[in-house]
Amino acid sequence: MSETIFDKIIKREIPADIVYEDEQSLAFRDINPQAPVHILVIPKKAIATINDLTESDEQLVGHLYTVAAHIARAEGIANDGFRTVMNCNEHGGQSVYHIHLHVLGGKPLGWPPYAGD
Ligand code: AMP
Repeated sequence: MSETIFDKIIKREIPADIVYEDEQSLAFRDINPQAPVHILVIPKKAIATINDLTESDEQLVGHLYTVAAHIARAEGIANDGFRTVMNCNEHGGQSVYHIHLHVLGGKPLGWPPYAGD
C-alpha cells in the first residue's frame, strides 16, 4: 500500500500538532478544522479504509474510540458533547487513505450532515 501523509506524520517526517500518542495510535489537530475542536485519531498501523478492516483489527478500532473519549475530556468537550466520524471512500468523503477518526466539538454541530442532492 502506498504511503500517505499520515504515515509521514507518524514518522515525524512532516510536522503536526500532536495531542496524544501511545503504542497503537496517534492524535493530532486537523489542519483544516471544521469545528473549534477537530482532532484526528489514527492507528499507527496503516489501514486504507473501513473496507480493509479484519477481525484482527477489532481491538485497535475500539482503542481509537477510547482515545477519542480521552481527548474529548482533555479538550473539555466531553460533557457538552462531540461527534466522531470515520469516512470511507469517495462517497463518504474520504481524502486520506489511512483510517482516521475525526473528533469534532466545541459548538453545537448540525445534524443530519446530508446537504442535499
Ligand atoms: P477525510 O476527508 O475523512 O479523509 O479526512 C482527512 C482529513 O485530514 C481532513 O479533514 C484534512 O483536513 C486532514 N489533513 C490532511 N492533511 C493533514 C495534515 N498534514 N495535518 C493534519 N490534518 C490533515
